[in-house]
Amino acid sequence: MPRSFPLELIRNIAIIAHIDAGKTTTTERILFYTGRTHKIGNVDEGTTVMDFMQQERERGITIKAAATTTQWGEHRINIIDTPGHVDFTAEVERSLRVLDGGVVVLDAVQGVEAQSETVWRQADKYRVPRICFINKMDRTGANFHRTIEMIKDRLHAIPIAIQLPLGAEENYQGVIDLVEMKAWRFSNSAEESAEEVKIPDEMLETVKQARYDMIERLGESDDRMMESYLSNQDKITITDIKSALRRVTVANKCVLVLCGSSLKNKGIQNLLDAVVDYLPSPLDMPALQAINVKTEEKVISPPEDGAPLVALAFKVVTDPYMGRLVYLRLYSGRVDSGATVLNSTRDKRERIGRIVLMHANHREEINEADTGSIVAILGLKETFTGDTICSSEKPLVLESIRFPEPVIAVAVEPRTRADQDKLGEALRKMSDEDPTFKVDYNDETGQMIISGMGELHLDVIVSRMLTEFGVTAKVGNPQVAYKETITEQVEVEGRFVRQSGGHGQYGHVWVKFEPLDKSQGFEFVEAIKGGTIPRKFIGPVEKGIKDGMQSGSLGGFPIVDIKATLFDGSYHDVDSSDLAFQMAGSLAMKEGARRGKPVLLEPIMKMEIMAPEQFMGDLIGDINSRRGHIENIDTRSGMTTIHAKVPLAQTFGYSTVIRSLTQGRANYSLEFSHYQQVPRDLAEEIVNKGRGNA
Ligand code: GDP
Ligand code: MG
Repeated sequence: MPRSFPLELIRNIAIIAHIDAGKTTTTERILFYTGRTHKIGNVDEGTTVMDFMQQERERGITIKAAATTTQWGEHRINIIDTPGHVDFTAEVERSLRVLDGGVVVLDAVQGVEAQSETVWRQADKYRVPRICFINKMDRTGANFHRTIEMIKDRLHAIPIAIQLPLGAEENYQGVIDLVEMKAWRFSNSAEESAEEVKIPDEMLETVKQARYDMIERLGESDDRMMESYLSNQDKITITDIKSALRRVTVANKCVLVLCGSSLKNKGIQNLLDAVVDYLPSPLDMPALQAINVKTEEKVISPPEDGAPLVALAFKVVTDPYMGRLVYLRLYSGRVDSGATVLNSTRDKRERIGRIVLMHANHREEINEADTGSIVAILGLKETFTGDTICSSEKPLVLESIRFPEPVIAVAVEPRTRADQDKLGEALRKMSDEDPTFKVDYNDETGQMIISGMGELHLDVIVSRMLTEFGVTAKVGNPQVAYKETITEQVEVEGRFVRQSGGHGQYGHVWVKFEPLDKSQGFEFVEAIKGGTIPRKFIGPVEKGIKDGMQSGSLGGFPIVDIKATLFDGSYHDVDSSDLAFQMAGSLAMKEGARRGKPVLLEPIMKMEIMAPEQFMGDLIGDINSRRGHIENIDTRSGMTTIHAKVPLAQTFGYSTVIRSLTQGRANYSLEFSHYQQVPRDLAEEIVNKGRGNA
């Protein structure tokens, strides 16, 4: 079966940006220009106002799709959506995991903003090659060179400008391409194509120097370019430069920098050219490692159609027209609609229903998907974000996407009977889409408890409940998800023995509990010697310990970050059972939690505030009064950025506080950072209050 699309012509990318830098505008322009190419020749396209509106409406939805497929020349570009706001960090992670390259949009006036740094670090973690698009060149105060300096200083990257802006601020006109030495002027209208113009005489020297700098930079990072540069500078061709630019980008050595104005339709076509010229295809990326489910061996999943199927589910959405869609990135092999596949993460057989490519203005149903593609699948019922889909004959599993556990919870109560029926369904759908959002039912109070990554996260969910699902609900006060851990190593005995006539119970264990480092979760080690406990009872002991971890000895909060070593015990030929050993494990955990010097842990948030300098004193005073810790203060042209760590419990309602502190002139963001020990006196208060409630 020949491929429907050559792998080397595919680009899986995301547009990454600080909020307001122009991600949405840039994405829309890309979809417009690529969509138009797609439509050429289709003269029968409806031109009535109704058609237009219908299309707009559909496009509005597909722009929000987790991945949109477009075509630029011969190339297929899959644009993967990333949310602009760092409050949804986990969402950004899932996108970075499946894409091959990124376009980072920066604001030419603001330069590299605080939140761009966060995303940049995440992209570093996944080694995602990037290019930078300095947007808003038409704005007063736009500065191409200053922004490049900031890429160097704040992002610690090596920028290489491959363009210079043509004109500036209100006279901004287009770009000068340093590779081909051509100038392009764009009209404000998106409908008119770019016009090639002469490089203005007065700029010629600057442009030549910039081209020289570009080549020199390239030589510093690329050996082949260095050789050509040393041997014969005049013989360096455009093709040589382009290949070197591609090599340094794919290898993550340098970041190419372009410019334009999305709003004024300038520079977008050149940006698209750069995406296909310089960002990697799936073939350029290192082959992925998977784990053979049966042998637990590591195997390479090569990007080849002939290889066994390996795909990662990276997003689940409920589409208003189509229903539950699971987005897959195919790393190896291919899949047909109608095929039976294995969800190796959950060991469940699934059937591929329809396979859909989401375009800017339509959806295309296809019969098969090849390696490297990103498709939406209908019909997968038990597949969730982070799961691996593979061939049933060759069960392979990929490393899942790790999402942090929720740190904040609120109770929601439906207002009316009708709301009650819809509430469950709405919450189920939203938790299906969002792995950092959880729903629990509290048996004692009969309340629904929803939990997530921060106050804003839950606010967004509550407002979606109303706008998308028409449910009105009463929302309780936010509750912090405290945890407990031990601080000292202890060895404890767990005995569950009942021997009063008839068939008894006998489970007996000795367990060593030790504190683990932050966020290490739970580790179980079996160190039984000489069969003092038969093998078949080890599993039940571990299960019992995990049961015991559900509720700690201080305030009944879950226990985390401990290692349990089962090292001794005894059994009875007749009376021992799974249940008896499970109980013994659970009792040991309870004892260990009591004796291991337990402490209370609370979620700490990373806080970033941007405000005019004059408010700095008040803001810092306020953060200190919230048990906050200032990490860094950075002031630039009158704007101050404060980086701090603040306990989640102290951030409730902060949006109102900061508004009144700064007359509404500050921006801030909060993001979960880590768990940390609660100061003793405060811990007592929290524990007592918890007891009072129970
Ligand atoms: P996002 O938050 O990154 O998605 O940013 P948006 O695309 O929503 O843009 C934020 C604001 O910047 C909007 O008011 C846009 O009209 C404006 N904007 C986007 N691109 C440009 C540009 O190239 N020039 C100017 N002057 N404004 C722009
Ligand atoms: Mg936006």
